[in-house]
Amino acid sequence: MLDGIRRINEFEWEIERGFVPEMRVPGKFYLSDTLSESLEEGAVRQLANVATMPGIVKYSLAMPDVHWGYGFPIGGVAAFNMEEGVISPGGVGFDINCGVRLLALPVKKAEFSGIKGIINQLFDTVPTGVGNKSALRLSEKELEDVMLEGAGWAVNNGYGTKDDIIRCEDGGCLGGADTEYVSRKARQRGMPQCGTLGSGNHFLEIQSVDEIFDDEAAEKFGLVMDQICIMIHCGSRGLGHQVCTDHLKDLEAASKKYKIKLPDSQLACAPLKSPEGKAYLSAMAASANYAWANRQIITHLVREIICKSPDIEYDEIKLVYDVTHNVAKFEEHIVDGEKQTLCVHRKGATRAFGPGSPGLPPELESTGQPVLIPGSMGTPSYVLKGTEKAMECTFGSTCHGSGRIMSRSQAKKSSEGAEIKEELAGKGVYVRATSNKVIAEESPKAYKSSSEVVRIVHNAGLSLKVAKLTPMGVIKG
Ligand code: 5GP
Ligand code: MN
Ligand code: MN
Repeated sequence: MLDGIRRINEFEWEIERGFVPEMRVPGKFYLSDTLSESLEEGAVRQLANVATMPGIVKYSLAMPDVHWGYGFPIGGVAAFNMEEGVISPGGVGFDINCGVRLLALPVKKAEFSGIKGIINQLFDTVPTGVGNKSALRLSEKELEDVMLEGAGWAVNNGYGTKDDIIRCEDGGCLGGADTEYVSRKARQRGMPQCGTLGSGNHFLEIQSVDEIFDDEAAEKFGLVMDQICIMIHCGSRGLGHQVCTDHLKDLEAASKKYKIKLPDSQLACAPLKSPEGKAYLSAMAASANYAWANRQIITHLVREIICKSPDIEYDEIKLVYDVTHNVAKFEEHIVDGEKQTLCVHRKGATRAFGPGSPGLPPELESTGQPVLIPGSMGTPSYVLKGTEKAMECTFGSTCHGSGRIMSRSQAKKSSEGAEIKEELAGKGVYVRATSNKVIAEESPKAYKSSSEVVRIVHNAGLSLKVAKLTPMGVIKG
């Protein structure tokens, strides 16, 4: 391990203050011996850099899926107090409210045939790829409403059921959205893209429940052994990306205006109380709401295909949960024995609120929130539940995936898309992608082991395993 890093126990390491000058708090990351080999020095440095930012509380944190990102590492969590604290787009990411949702079908693996045909139909129905356009063209007014109402807009316009809203983090709508701070260009990018998957890492995957670790929680979540599920991973498309780009420019200027000393210009930020900070927060919330509507509309398209089967009704396809893993939110946490409102940045990290936490659906209050952790197109994904330990140690947060170990270009060099597709077919996974290049970039080998990442967060108590899901068919953007 690098100098200046101290191991605390089997799964926790501390980055001592002084690793980079002017750290206000220590850094802390969760890892294992196995994964420590793949730890990037650059990501550790980024974690330490975040610890220099004004108003940061307790620790700058990283989850075991940590890897290098723009300014903040992906897999990073940082909470800031309201007095001196800041908001930073780099701590949210370019894909604002990128997230994951899981649908549970009323059918088991043995009764579910024709996966290839279903994947092909889904591929033809859900627009996929970089600039791909939706069949749904939002008007300017509709886009406004989407940005204010999120998943609720979609449901109220016929793209889902009322129950869906209850099963979204924050009810599928973040408060404080103000569309005044969303530029013309961002709107133009967003208008044709609502209801599209996007490219690369974004996916739609048919899975089966292959192991249940916690019967009681699985039952509460609506999951049974051998059940067919569909996982959807996407975010706010061009709209969120443009909002991030626009506001980064403003916050770079604001960092100078407020004389915030930063070790890396990618950490551009502004005080939470400043007009510049508030403007970004309002536009970020609008983008988050767009992403929730996006995942909701895709859900509708999926349901329409699946319920062509005579045995399955539209509303028998249940939303297990929808999590956001790229966002900053105001939450109450205990700091030094006192309840404080903090702005918690999760960038490639999932909220993992434990039993009794605010904002959980009533039927899940005693269980904790469902946590959805995708693996890769060739490795298992997991459903976990949030814990009190996460509330104490990580501001109620856990990992968001397995995390990359290879850059896209490295992955492309290391193997051919067509070969990976064939290999996966041999394992019973049918892959349909916009190109073989995407398959190569998204090779399972490009990611850490999801089982190892999940083993760490489970043993560290940041979220506990409920079920394991194995891929059967995947659509890649
Ligand atoms: P990110 O949001 O950082 O791009 O990706 C989240 C996580 O999704 C990655 O860390 C990876 O573990 C997972 N992932 C990427 N592609 C796939 C896929 O095709 N299927 C599944 N199940 N997971 C994936
Ligand atoms: Mn994304
Ligand atoms: Mn994501």
